[in-house]
Order: sequence, then C-alpha cells, then structure tokens
Amino acid sequence: MAAVEALECKECGARYALEARHACDSCFGPLEVTYDFSGLDREGAKRRIQAGPASVWRYADFLPFERPPRTALAAGVSPLIRADRLAERLGLGEVWVKNEASNPTHSFKDRVVTVALAKAQELGYEVVACASTGNLANAVAAHAAAAGLESYVFVPADLEEQKILATGVYGTHLVSVNGTYDDVNRLCSELAAEREWGFVNVNVRPYYAEGSKTLAYEVAEQLGFELPDRVVCPVASGSLFTKIARGFEEWREVGLVEGDLPTFNGAQAEGCSPVAQAFEAGLDVCKPVKPSTIAKSLAIGDPADGPYAIDLARRTGGGIDSVTDDEIRKGIGLLAETTGVFTETAGGVTTAVLAKLAERGDIGADERVVLVITGEGLKTLDAVRGSFETRVIEPTTTAFAEAFQREAVTS
Ligand SMILES: *Cc1c(COP(=O)(O)O)cnc(C)c1O
Ligand SMILES: [Zn+2]
Repeated sequence: MAAVEALECKECGARYALEARHACDSCFGPLEVTYDFSGLDREGAKRRIQAGPASVWRYADFLPFERPPRTALAAGVSPLIRADRLAERLGLGEVWVKNEASNPTHSFKDRVVTVALAKAQELGYEVVACASTGNLANAVAAHAAAAGLESYVFVPADLEEQKILATGVYGTHLVSVNGTYDDVNRLCSELAAEREWGFVNVNVRPYYAEGSKTLAYEVAEQLGFELPDRVVCPVASGSLFTKIARGFEEWREVGLVEGDLPTFNGAQAEGCSPVAQAFEAGLDVCKPVKPSTIAKSLAIGDPADGPYAIDLARRTGGGIDSVTDDEIRKGIGLLAETTGVFTETAGGVTTAVLAKLAERGDIGADERVVLVITGEGLKTLDAVRGSFETRVIEPTTTAFAEAFQREAVTS
C-alpha cells in the first residue's frame, strides 16, 4: 500500500486529488503532497531502501506514486564526502560535502525532474516544459530526451553559455526570454493556463518539489541512518531547503532516524537575497528584488517558498545569510583547494556562508555539518577566470628552472 494520499494547501489545509494542480482554489496557497506513513513499518522500509536501485527510486515508499515508475535516466545517490581539510581550514570539527555534481546533468535538479517527469507521464502529458535559472533547463531537456517526450525550456537571455549549450544539445525547444527569471516564470504560468503541457515547476510543481526530499534521505542513509547536526544549503525558491527538512521529518516519523531536526542555514547571494533580507529584518514574507549576481542559478527575486524557508531557519535555530560575488568566487576556490570538488557559483555561495558561520563562531566544535553542493563548476567557468596564474615557458628544462627558481629556493 502506497503512503501517498492527496494534495493539500499549505495555508488553509484544503485537499485535492493527485492531479496537475499547484495552487489552492479557495486561498491561492501553494499545494503540497501529503502522505500517511502509519502503515509503513520501519524495518520493511529500511530493507526496501537498502535493496533498492542506485537512484532516487530506492526511496519510492516516500515518493508520490502508487507504484515506482520506470525512468530512463537514473538520478541521485551522489557522494557524501568527509571534508577534513575544509573543516580544519575553517576551525570546525566535522564537515561533510554532499556533491550533487555527480548527477546526470551535474546538479541536484535531476532529482526533482526525474520525479516531475514521471508524474507528468502518469498524468498523460506528452509535452513537458519549465522556467529555469539554468540547471533545471539542463535536467528537463535531458530527462525528456531519455523518456522520448517533447520539451520546451524557457531561460533568461543572460544565462551562462555553458548552461545554454548543455541544454540545447539534448534536442529540446530552447527559448531564451528577454527578462529576468521572474519574467520567465510569469510567462510560463500564463502558458500553462492555455496549453496541455506539464510544466515541471508550475502545474506539476508539488511533485517536482518531492524530489528534493531524496537528498535528505540519502544524507541520513550515508551517515548510517543518523541525522547531521546542521545543514548549510543554497536558497533560490526555497524548495530544496525546506524539502530537505521535510525528508528528515518523515524519516523521524517512520522511526528510520531519531533526534532533533538539524539546524538549517540558508545561503543566498547578496545580489539576490530576498529571503536573507527578510530573515534579517525579522519579517515573515519576502520583498521581491531584481537579481544582480554571478550566482545565476539562485537568481530568483520573488521566491515561492521564501516564507517557509524563513520559518524553517527560525524554528531550528539557524538563519539565512548572504555573501558577495567576491566571497562566492573565494568560496569556489576554498572548496576546490580543500576537497577536490569544483562547484558552480551556487556552491560558492554555500561554502562562503559556511565560512562566514565558522568565522562568527556560530558552529559548535562537536557539530556534524553537511554542506550541500548543488552543482558543477564547469557550468560557470567565468567565475574562476583570472583567479590563478599560468606559467608559460619554452620547452626546455632551463626555462622551467628559471620560471620556478624562486619557489625552489624558498621551499
Ligand atoms: C535550483 C538550484 C538551487 C536552489 O533551488 P530552490 O529549490 O529553488 O531553492 C540551488 N543550487 C542550484 C545549483 C540550483 O540549480
Ligand atoms: Zn488554501
């Protein structure tokens, strides 16, 4: 018996059938998938997880399907790396890096898209679409290609070239919109109202969001069915951030893990920090901003789950911090030099916020911290251009010796 029950309004609690719908008819609040886990026994669930496939579908008991769907491109099961050199550099006790760059299109978006497209197919859609800050475009184009679905992806015109190229290659209809992500999103909401398409982050959004819970399940499983003490995670719409907490809560409910919910720290770029600003000002809702930052994958000026992200940070004793573009570049370098993981700008944001929390003394010496690195450095190469020196020499041993003479003497 599947645990999935209904769609429920996060504001007024109204319930709806499991269809393509994302807003409440009576109060316009966002809808979320609800489950009844009372029939799920802990040992059975654990056995199915451990015997399951090396993909998000090992957690099928906690996803919105009666029967686990078949998908053509596996997502999830990314490495959780103990980062002792990073911890040491920051004066911290125990830091783990969850490296989502190992997904098929090199970001955590493969998790949400595999779930959203499986649902879109179940609901009978033959065309799928999305509004994207870049990584979602990559993932929708790739998973649609693997599934044989037609796809349309809408992106802001100023997106990094690497992300455009890594999307178009899959044979999608790529639409570059003159405007910000928020303009693209509004356009997609209008198109969703007039077309029979499955928009992964509009009418299929409640299912899409469920995919992010698998990151939490994985962290807990990789820690031996234990919870970390703290999670540092980037915030764009706030969906990933809040769904990681939901994943941990569900596993506590079923008894797969015990203890308090970790402290949640959200990370934003100063050039697009509506959630951090609202948190700082003690507000419950965000004031929309016009983004201007190198962290384009986080550039959502009007975040749908902002209020829920603020609430999560508050009730777990965490916070939402922002960092400058310069700190983001340094964050990318710090992670690369201490862990061997090259992240895109979003991961630079997260690492820089971790460094800020460490410097402020907000993190206890005995805490186990998980740093969520959501994407791949090769997609935002401009962020590291000019950050190091390359020695150009003639092909002779003398030229090499001359170039490195000073280093050789001083070392
Ligand atoms: C989309 C994205 C995020 C944040 O996603 P939300 O769920 O909208 O907060 C973080 N990092 C990367 C690399 C992303 O592409
Ligand atoms: Zn409602």
